[in-house]
Amino acid sequence: MSEKNAQHPRLRVWRNARLATLAPAAGGLGIYEKGTLLTDGERIVYAGSADGLPASAAQNAESFDLEGRWVTPGLIDCHTHIIHGGNRAREFEMRLEGATYEEVARAGGGIASSVKATNALSVDGLVDASIARVDTLLAEGVTTLEIKSGYGLNIEAELNMLRAARRLETVRPVRVVTSYLGAHATPIEYKGRNDDYITDVVLPGLTKAQAEGLVDAVDGFCEGIAFSTVQIARVFDAAKALGLPVKLHAEQLSNLGGAKLAASYEALSADHLEYLDEDGARAMSAAGTVAVLLPGAFYAINEKQKPPVKQLREAGAHIAIATDCNPGTSPLTSLLLTMNMAATLFGLTVEECIAGATREGARALGLLDETGSLEPGKSADFAIWDVESLAELVYRIGFNPLHARVFKGERIDR
Ligand SMILES: [Zn+2]
Repeated sequence: MSEKNAQHPRLRVWRNARLATLAPAAGGLGIYEKGTLLTDGERIVYAGSADGLPASAAQNAESFDLEGRWVTPGLIDCHTHIIHGGNRAREFEMRLEGATYEEVARAGGGIASSVKATNALSVDGLVDASIARVDTLLAEGVTTLEIKSGYGLNIEAELNMLRAARRLETVRPVRVVTSYLGAHATPIEYKGRNDDYITDVVLPGLTKAQAEGLVDAVDGFCEGIAFSTVQIARVFDAAKALGLPVKLHAEQLSNLGGAKLAASYEALSADHLEYLDEDGARAMSAAGTVAVLLPGAFYAINEKQKPPVKQLREAGAHIAIATDCNPGTSPLTSLLLTMNMAATLFGLTVEECIAGATREGARALGLLDETGSLEPGKSADFAIWDVESLAELVYRIGFNPLHARVFKGERIDR
């Protein structure tokens, strides 16, 4: 044994667990009622039936008795705007009191207020403003978190949002995946000049962010109130030239064909999708583009049009779910509540909700080789739950049964 190993025993056995491995080969949730996990440092060595692990394999391992608790992969929130300044509570209040969107906008509300509040903060300030939201997600078993820029809308402020996202990974035990979302909205100074904004800010900002190692993927908002498919294609072409994967906010309020465009660029995911049609669902499935459903935004804007879950299933598309945590249309920091909403509002099954917040979230981030299921070779990211059945994770509303979180093999108790 090396000196390093003697000082830091790396082998850990997690006994007496009920496992939901989510391993694709196992089918369904990949259940082992009498399960054991073996981890070596950051990696899973074994995940399966207790009988299947030779006693010799766990020799000298540190042992944890999970007392029959359920263990799932660590949760993955694959779509958030969690880094931002300020909040929109006053605007929410005004709308409840009967104000129109125009009146809210005239009072300085809407996305412009989030842009102003975000631009006022340094990288440290952005981390400080966001850390309580991040901690709330982690307390529910999240081990991987996607974070977008998109409230800066000028080059330096967009980069600062991504720098803050990267910094979060150094101050909390969590994996952060970034998306550059310069094409989120047009700032006031470019009103009516989307193409100039893309030329002057979005594209050079992307090049700069990529050079600084800040970008894992490139996102856009394809909608009548945002950018057209032609404009998004300009951004996607630049992403492809830099070797970056793409994803898209598509078909949230209308059908512009964004999901089809995303699929034609082999996008990791197309997100929202309330107005997706059958053609779009088939294109996504053929391209392996994950459908990311965001019930928090559906709920918060009181949308009536539901995403076409039946068509997505029939097309064989993969379905993930996420909080879409953002100050305007989804001030939601609970992936457990998101699961409940996806079931209640969209009719997803328990299995689809749990897979959607684990394995399919990893797929939507291009991380399926690294996390999202309990399989040998993957990162030892898992959540240990005080529940009798997995359905409880989806069924309860506003209740957190997390017992402990394990990130890269390290146990973090609540
Ligand atoms: Zn979003």
